[in-house]
Formats: sequence, structure tokens, C-alpha cells
Amino acid sequence: MKVLVINAGSSSLKYQLIDMDNEAILAKGNCERIGIDKSSITHNANGKKYVTETPISNHTEAFMMVKDALTKGEGAVIADLSEISAIGHRVVQGGALFKQSVIVDKSVVDGIESLNPLAPLHNPAHIQGINAALDVFGKDVPEVVVFDTAFHSTMPEEAYIFAVPYEFYEKYQIRRYGFHGTSHRYVTARCLELLGRSGNPEGTKIISCHLGNGSSITAVKDGKVIDTSMGLTPLDGFMMGTRSGSLDPSVVTYIAEKEGLTPSEMDNLLNKKSGMLGISGVSSDDRDIGAAAEAGNERAILAHKMLEYQIKKFVGGYAASLNGCDAIIFTAGIGENQTAHREAVCEGLSYLGVKLDKEKNAAAKGIEMEISTPDSQVKVYVIPTNEEIVIARDTKKLVEELAK
Ligand code: ADP
Repeated sequence: MKVLVINAGSSSLKYQLIDMDNEAILAKGNCERIGIDKSSITHNANGKKYVTETPISNHTEAFMMVKDALTKGEGAVIADLSEISAIGHRVVQGGALFKQSVIVDKSVVDGIESLNPLAPLHNPAHIQGINAALDVFGKDVPEVVVFDTAFHSTMPEEAYIFAVPYEFYEKYQIRRYGFHGTSHRYVTARCLELLGRSGNPEGTKIISCHLGNGSSITAVKDGKVIDTSMGLTPLDGFMMGTRSGSLDPSVVTYIAEKEGLTPSEMDNLLNKKSGMLGISGVSSDDRDIGAAAEAGNERAILAHKMLEYQIKKFVGGYAASLNGCDAIIFTAGIGENQTAHREAVCEGLSYLGVKLDKEKNAAAKGIEMEISTPDSQVKVYVIPTNEEIVIARDTKKLVEELAK
């Protein structure tokens, strides 16, 4: 069975075609700047990268481009679209409605649409992707949706309710939802395998650190999420590439008043101009900040110190929530590659019994590895994330169940 995994954004459409017989990636790519000028499709297949600049005015046209890239020319990996058995879509916000992946039907699309106010940038784009896939592939190819929020749906009330008047939870469903759930789910499942506990996760306590452009940390007890750092939106938690993470809420009203900013201007400032970029003034990319820090840039050094400190606070807080910790996972761009941050975070966790093997830590770049010493009370792992394979596996499972 071949599954096409889709991540549709407002102006982009990322895809991966996966052969589920051996979970091999046959092709992957991205349509960029959909509906804007200078659109293009980048297609990686057969060991080569093909970039085509061409107007792409909407998501249906993007799917047509993907279809052509997969079936025609040098980058072709299948003879015909009929070889694709199902499509799996990433959806950011499943709210309290979707606690697991589901096959798409009209009620599911309506449900995703009803959550648009909670994810105004993402959910409408996902619906465009779902409808465009239907246009191009037809209704005989089942579509499945996999939600970023679903893994977090096991959180207890005390972790997900914010301490504003309760009526806002009732009126607007304002609560912590959490994001990156598909990534946390993948690395947690892999960690349980490494701990030899995948069949019996009861009693395990895991802290999963997804550190990328956007970052979140999740506390997992018995294989189920009990708390996570992102909240109503992916702005909450600790500092990220361009996002502030948590701060004293009065900072928001104070800056807005002083600078005369509207709510949406404030939203833009906190989401796009803050975090590592806002502090360093250099870049949102951790590699650039590292280079500036090495050259002595004090604000870049401060940005790194703040990041490491804030990660440590979350890990320590979640160790308290879990009443202990068996394993800490590092994943995503920074978590998988930035050895210095891992070392700084783990050094501050010796009270938990964390002992890092510095040589292993230095060697673990983008590869799965246990980086704690054999006598460490807490195992520390680098586990490269793979959200696409989770989406493809859920899609295959649901489609096979449907066929029974
Ligand atoms: P996204 O959240 O957009 O998926 P990533 O998970 O790729 O992003 O993380 C991007 C961050 O990871 C950037 O700050 C980047 O500097 C860092 N990063 C990615 N790859 C590497 C690498 N090979 N070495 C060091 N840092 C990396």
C-alpha cells in the first residue's frame, strides 16, 4: 500500500509518498508560494531534486503539480495515481472534538471547520488541502486526518484549564490543547520500545523535548500525556525561534498600551518578532545565533542562556508533575543536533539523577542514541522525530479497518 502524506499550509503543500510495505519514502517535496507570485514545486525522488518554477494559483493546482511530479518525467515514482491507496493529512487543531485520527467525511470536515477560530491560520488551509485532494484523486481514495492536538487529549483538567474566569472556557473553549502531538507520540513510542516497555507503559515517566523553530515539552505518564507546554495556540511554553513563549500576561497589555498596538499587532510581535530573534537581534535560527555567540555577541549569548534555562525549568517542573522521571527525549532540529544545549540542560538536572555521557552526546547528531551514562538514574535519548510515518501508519490502519 502506498500512502500520500500531506501537510497543507495557507501558501504551501508539503507531501511525502510512502510505500507502507517497507515504510520507504518514494518521493517527497513541497509546493511553495501557492496563490502568490514566484510559486514553485521542489520534488525529491530517485536520488535527485527537481525544482520547477511555475504559477500555482490554488491547492487544486498544487495537487495537479504533485500528481505530475509523481507520475511523469525523470522524477516519476509511480505509473499512475491509482497506485496511491490513501491520503493522510496533518491537521493542527482538533480541539476537544478529535481525540484520535479519523477517516474524512462531511461531518469531519465540518468539525475541522468549526475549529477555525482556534487555528485561523492552519485549519482553513487544511480544509483547502482536503478538498483539493478530493478534486484531484476522486472520492474513491480515502482521506484520513491526523491531529497535532490528539496525543495531548489525555491531559487532566487541572493541566488544561487557564485561570481566567471559567465562563471563557465554556463560551470560547479557551484551554490548553498542546501541539506537536504527532512528534511527541512518535518519539515517546520509540522511547518506550528502547526502555523495553512498549507493551506495558504503566508506571513509566517520560519527558519529551521537541526543540525546533517551534518547540514544546510534554510530560508523559503511563504512555499518556499529562501536561504540555504549548497552550491554546503554539505561542505558549518557552522561547522559540520567533515566539516569546510564556511571560507575565501584563507584559502584553503594557507593551500594547505603550506602543498603541492592536491585538493582532501584538499577536504578530509575540509570534514573529520575539523569542530567539527578538533577544539576539541576529536570527531565529539557532545555528546563526551559535555563530554570533561564538564571535562574542552578548545578546546571542543571552538568548542561548535563556533558552537552556527555560528548557531546564520545564523539565524540572514536569519531573515534579510526574513525581520522577525515567527518560528524557530530545528531538527536532535543535534537540537532535545542538549538543551544547543538551549538555547545558542535562548539567542542571543532576539532582534528578541525570548523568550525561559527554562523548556520546557530542556524537549524537541527527541519529538515535542513548546519551546518558549506564549509571544515570534517568535515561537520556536523542530520537529523530518522524511525524510523516505516524500519519502514514494511522492512515493505513484506518483504511484497512474500513475495508474489513
Ligand atoms: P521546524 O520547527 O520548522 O520543523 P526544525 O525542527 O527543523 O524546524 O528546527 C529548526 C531549528 O533547528 C533551527 O533553529 C536550526 O538552527 C536547528 N537545526 C536544524 N538542523 C540543524 C543541524 N543540522 N545542526 C544544528 N542545528 C540545526
